Amino acid sequence: MKLIYTAIGLISLLPITASFANENTVNIYSFRQAELLSPLITEFTQQTGINVNVVSGKADKLFQRLIDDGDDSFADVLLTVDAVRLERAKSLNIIQPINSTFLINNIPSNLRDPENYWFGMSIRARSIFYNKKYVNPQQIKSYQSLLDKQWKGQICSRKGSHMYNVSMVASFIHQHGWAWADNWVKKFTSNLAMRPNGGDRDQIRKVARGECTVAIANSYYYGMLSASSKKSDRDAYQQVGIIFPKDGQTGTHVNISGAALTHSSKNKLNAIKFIEFLATKKAQKIYANNNYEFPINPDVKLSFLLESWGNLHADTESIHQLYKNFKQANGVIKKNHW
Ligand code: FE
Repeated sequence: MKLIYTAIGLISLLPITASFANENTVNIYSFRQAELLSPLITEFTQQTGINVNVVSGKADKLFQRLIDDGDDSFADVLLTVDAVRLERAKSLNIIQPINSTFLINNIPSNLRDPENYWFGMSIRARSIFYNKKYVNPQQIKSYQSLLDKQWKGQICSRKGSHMYNVSMVASFIHQHGWAWADNWVKKFTSNLAMRPNGGDRDQIRKVARGECTVAIANSYYYGMLSASSKKSDRDAYQQVGIIFPKDGQTGTHVNISGAALTHSSKNKLNAIKFIEFLATKKAQKIYANNNYEFPINPDVKLSFLLESWGNLHADTESIHQLYKNFKQANGVIKKNHW
């Protein structure tokens, strides 16, 4: 066991007491912290008698570990974020398809791989945030609204090269074409208040402090601020509003967190049971709500908090096109020095 711990380095490890292949075990590589998964795991083990081991870490590190370990990997399930990363896992042959009517019936087709290699488990919306004191939200309907000259020196964002932004631009390329996306990034960056720095949460905090009046960030970070142990973060939540932009018929850019069965899985049936369990209404509620994401299962009721953010008209149609457009999107971002 120690060997795994040192090999994984920065990744935290829950005690793995059973052997890797065990009829009562499933081993999970998760981008999501073990504490967030623990209510689900307790429920799953109670229902099935299957023990769950979780290795949690940054999505990129877990992904690389899976590639490096190949068939020797002890992971059965990969929980990760971004459809692009899941598509990459498919192309690298580190995950395998699951034949499950339950998953097909409970997850909309735009949010899972058509060949069943991966399944979306929650939705995150790339949203616009504004300072309630300085901005009339009626002035921002779409991503396109942010190109208006009135926002010159008013907008904050993290670096363009971050996957969240690259995927968003990839969706723009799919929906509106390369020239539209290039023009959007060019004008958007010319309206920035400062050089991109920090993470998504920092952008919302900057809006609250008035360092900029508008920002782009993922929706769940806003939810996290609402429940933060820091008063300044909870205040920021109150001072900042959220907008789900719509460009004409195209809704808000969304991405997913997803689950897949690893190619090397030694506990395949347990792994499939676990992934199916995550898509149940009961688990979906916990899985999505714990991280302030939107459930993938359309029959699951939103939490009161998410409900209060207004209607999300999600562009789920672009999800399958992000991987294809990712390289071009990266090019557009580099070209415009975002
Ligand atoms: Fe994130």
